[in-house]
Amino acid sequence: MQNNKTPQIIWDFEGGIHPEPNKAISNKSAIKDLPLFSEYVVPVSEKLELEKVIHVEVGDHVYKGQLLAESKTGFESNIHAPTSGKITSIEKKLIPHPGNCKALCICIETDYHDTSPESVDCQGYKQLAAETLISLIKEYGVNGLGGAGFPTATKFNPAVTIDTLVINGVECEPYITCDDRLMRENANEIIEGIQLAVHISSAKKSVIAIEDNKPQAIEAIKLATQNHPNIEVLVLPTKYPSGSEKQLFFMATGKEVPHGKRPYDVGLMMLNVGTCFALKQAVVNNLPLIERVSTLTGLGISSPGNYRIRIGTKLSDLVDYFNIKQPVQIVFGGPMMGFPVTDLSMPLSKTINCVIFAAKGELNSERQEMPCIRCGDCQDVCPASLLPQQLLFFSKHQQHEKAIQHQIFDCIECGACSYVCPSDIPLVDYYRHEKSALREIEKEKKQAGIAKKRFENRNQRLDRIKQERDEKRAQVQRQRELAQQANQQKNQQNEALDAIDAGKQAAVQQDPKKAAIAAALARVQAKKLEKENHKVKSEPAKSDIENK
Ligand code: SF4
Ligand code: SF4
Repeated sequence: MQNNKTPQIIWDFEGGIHPEPNKAISNKSAIKDLPLFSEYVVPVSEKLELEKVIHVEVGDHVYKGQLLAESKTGFESNIHAPTSGKITSIEKKLIPHPGNCKALCICIETDYHDTSPESVDCQGYKQLAAETLISLIKEYGVNGLGGAGFPTATKFNPAVTIDTLVINGVECEPYITCDDRLMRENANEIIEGIQLAVHISSAKKSVIAIEDNKPQAIEAIKLATQNHPNIEVLVLPTKYPSGSEKQLFFMATGKEVPHGKRPYDVGLMMLNVGTCFALKQAVVNNLPLIERVSTLTGLGISSPGNYRIRIGTKLSDLVDYFNIKQPVQIVFGGPMMGFPVTDLSMPLSKTINCVIFAAKGELNSERQEMPCIRCGDCQDVCPASLLPQQLLFFSKHQQHEKAIQHQIFDCIECGACSYVCPSDIPLVDYYRHEKSALREIEKEKKQAGIAKKRFENRNQRLDRIKQERDEKRAQVQRQRELAQQANQQKNQQNEALDAIDAGKQAAVQQDPKKAAIAAALARVQAKKLEKENHKVKSEPAKSDIENK
């Protein structure tokens, strides 16, 4: 049997580092549940600018798993109630974002019943069409649980041929162990989710990649794939950031996703192991994504481990529940790619896979930044083959064009450059700042373009109205002139008739010969006028001709 055979070739990417893993802090115990908290703050959107249709109002009672907000764009997933209770407010609040941004959130006061409608398992999904399954995945709000949180339904495109489906169980970032524990404890469900993804995408082959520092997870997955010969298990050497999308595609297939292209352009698709688990829960168990496994770790928490955390759980509730004492530094995500959090009101969203409660000095974040000594260490470790020290210069001095020319948008923000920098320069922070400045400039340009277009459209509309008005005026003027002309001719005709009468009288009273001539001339003149008058009446107006 071909099953579980590790592929012969593992490609290695340029750069990378080997930071202290610190995974043993949290990976020893099984995944646990948390009690219900009194309030949940569910972000409507995690991407700030995207609008969703909100299906609830303040005062409504909601059940666990009820649809709260629906995405219309395909760039974000639907949001559901994490428990049953009452909607107390829908307002802007802090959301998990490195920029400490506020966005619309739905607040639920828990009723502690945790009620939800009965759900019936669906085992026969293979009989359903890919489109039906994709809409189920969308309906249940499944999104990527390993990285940027892209909606999973949008990743599936029935029109595209997928050659290799790569399942990401690498979890290369230090401290984070939620995927490791999920693979150990829920390997069969993950494999079911992978088979579901294979069924929808019609992928020719699938590979699940795991770093060699997770021996129990590798064992569990190998066991679960014994009867699934279409899924290969790929064990990778531990190196950061092998779990990044482009790097993992290269390691697993030898293929590179060209700049500006999408993975499916080269026949590739990637899903995280947690996403596969959520897929199975959505399609087979009819469960919307209302919780995820996250790692709570660091030397500042007395019970580190992995917990099933409901979306919308407030950081303050975790701090209270675990009796975490200050001073402690809190980071959402890992130490390499995460961001520090200072406001405890911030809720956890679908993309928060880890919260580090670091003890003082644990994360080296208090080091003082020194000037660059041009050692080139950052360049040596960059997995995206960029020039980090040059990007630093362009970012610091707002040389936007240069930053773009040096491919700042290819930076995956892995933080490897910051990690090795002997001058303790937080390089990745500068790149994040520069990228958001560039996005802002682009947005302003777009808005200016829209405003210009609107201005041009308005001018065109006003020109058109003026032209129509002028044409109408000219038409009225022409009709007036024609009427005047007709009146004049009528008067002349009357005068001629008067002249005929006068001629007749003259003929009787004076010279009958002259009178006869005058009368004849008057008749001719009258006929001529009558003819012209008839011609004017029957001449169509200019506007009539134009209308025809
Ligand atoms: S590692 Fe730091 S000091 Fe060395 S070149 Fe890069 S930015 Fe400069
Ligand atoms: S953060 Fe960006 S520049 Fe720095 S090593 Fe990673 S990809 Fe390269």
